[in-house]
Amino acid sequence: MAQSKTCQVLVVGGGPGGYPAAIRAGQLGLDTIIVDKHGLGGTCLNRGCIPSKAFIHASSKYEEMVHHAQKDEMGLKIADPTLDMAGVTAWKDGIVSKLTKGVGQLLKAAKVETIAGWATFQNAKTCVVEMENGETVEITAEHVILATGSKETELPFMPFGGNVIGSTEALELTERPEKLVVVGGGYIGLELGIAFRKMGSEVAVVEALDSILPSYDKELIRPVQMWLKKNKVALHTGCKAKGAVEEGGQTFLEFEDAKGQTQRIEADKILVAVGRKPVTEGWGLENMGVDMDGPFVKIDHQCRTAMRGVYAIGDLVGEPLLAHKATKQGELVAEIIAGHKRAYDPVSVAAVCFTEPELVGVGLTPDEAKAKGETVITGKFPLAASGRALTMEGGADGGFVRVTARESDHVILGIHAVGKHVSELSGEFALALEMGATLEDVAGTIHVHPTLTEGFAEGVLTALGHPIHISA
Ligand code: FAD
Ligand code: NAD
Repeated sequence: MAQSKTCQVLVVGGGPGGYPAAIRAGQLGLDTIIVDKHGLGGTCLNRGCIPSKAFIHASSKYEEMVHHAQKDEMGLKIADPTLDMAGVTAWKDGIVSKLTKGVGQLLKAAKVETIAGWATFQNAKTCVVEMENGETVEITAEHVILATGSKETELPFMPFGGNVIGSTEALELTERPEKLVVVGGGYIGLELGIAFRKMGSEVAVVEALDSILPSYDKELIRPVQMWLKKNKVALHTGCKAKGAVEEGGQTFLEFEDAKGQTQRIEADKILVAVGRKPVTEGWGLENMGVDMDGPFVKIDHQCRTAMRGVYAIGDLVGEPLLAHKATKQGELVAEIIAGHKRAYDPVSVAAVCFTEPELVGVGLTPDEAKAKGETVITGKFPLAASGRALTMEGGADGGFVRVTARESDHVILGIHAVGKHVSELSGEFALALEMGATLEDVAGTIHVHPTLTEGFAEGVLTALGHPIHISA
């Protein structure tokens, strides 16, 4: 006989959507239970954002060390750096463990009950959770927040297994693949492909579209393409993966090139990173009376599903599949349940791609703004003219900050940047858009010297026609 519990708020999924929802609900005095089977922190903390950024950081450090071993630059020389892949993975595991334990403590402090297990819904408000010890608990809630997230998409003709891996397995490797072939030149393919290249793997990327990183514009991705070329990453765009072939004890990726010819590349590992899909099966979603929007759960501007008292957030509800969007929706839903007047209506959700160099996109590109009928002015400031960028290794390599504003009232519509460490500018960019800043607002703000943020101020001055550190 299953034990039973009741609560005001039940959160299913402990990722960056679910756990902030539960913490906020607890802070607001709501009796809250959170259920997760695969560890608090979800994809983001356990096998996504944090593990990948740890790999990216370690790989960049190693690359710099190798560079200084080969070349006496900056007056710095180092002898014989070595890479211990198992050590990198263990270091990453330590960070994950620290963060996920921290989430558990935060939930406890907010008086949220955490149950480790898999929830299956019988109806919209009741689920049975199967715990690791085989016991079950039935939970009935007044309000339900669905935050079941997403999982890796497999290609049907080359499922994961053997040398064909997804991002989860790539972030668990304890040996460096000498030859890595990446299928998919999107976020994961390029972030991890570049990290492995920096760690010394030979890397090839096979992308179906005619360009990598299709969500960023051509001007922005050019410095990333330059890095890939300089570092001998073989880029096969307009090419579709066809399958993995084992022959003579070796693995090959077979793909159809842009001319329709079949080609193959040898690989120790083939990393398939062709997108993620929402987790909508295996937990009784069909018993809950919610509507769907394609593969995602349909929600309104308050993250309400078609079923009264059932909310959905994060990757489960569609693009953008980003942790910070999930978190904002989670906090907001908890506040709505507590009776606050809130709606999910951001001006823009900032996106960052942690490639080499990094990319940031907030709001509209000039072309997107024009397509919406706006007449715009733009300002582009090259990081080669930034003192701070020049003090960092590779800091200026083709990078820039580009500001797009409405011509009539100078309201900023979009800010985009490419360059080393520009991810740290995303907060100021997002704030400017959310506050409805004009070019004059940013120009009137004193930006600290020497920092990359001066690049934003100079981008704005360029749009106004009077930059200081480049010729107008
Ligand atoms: P998830 O994080 O997927 O969490 C859902 C949780 O629910 C999981 O733990 C799952 O086990 C649990 N669950 C599902 N169903 C049930 C059930 N029935 N019972 C119990 N538990 C259940 N985003 C960024 O913003 N920045 C990045 O740098 C970034 N890097 C990434 C790198 C990689 C390699 C990957 C794979 C993703 C990355 N993302 C990044 C995307 C980010 O991880 C997701 O957008 C985010 O985790 C979504 O949060 P979520 O709470 O919606 O779902
Ligand atoms: P993605 O959508 O970014 O890229 C997938 C790529 O695979 C696309 O360019 C697509 O054209 C290509 N593709 C699809 N089928 C193919 C085939 N058969 N052969 C060759 N190429 C093919 O997906 P992803 O890289 O798997 O990442 C999933 C999501 O995770 C992202 O959309 C993003 O929301 C999130 N993520 C975010 C970050 C970040 O914020 N820095 C990092 C990693 C992941």
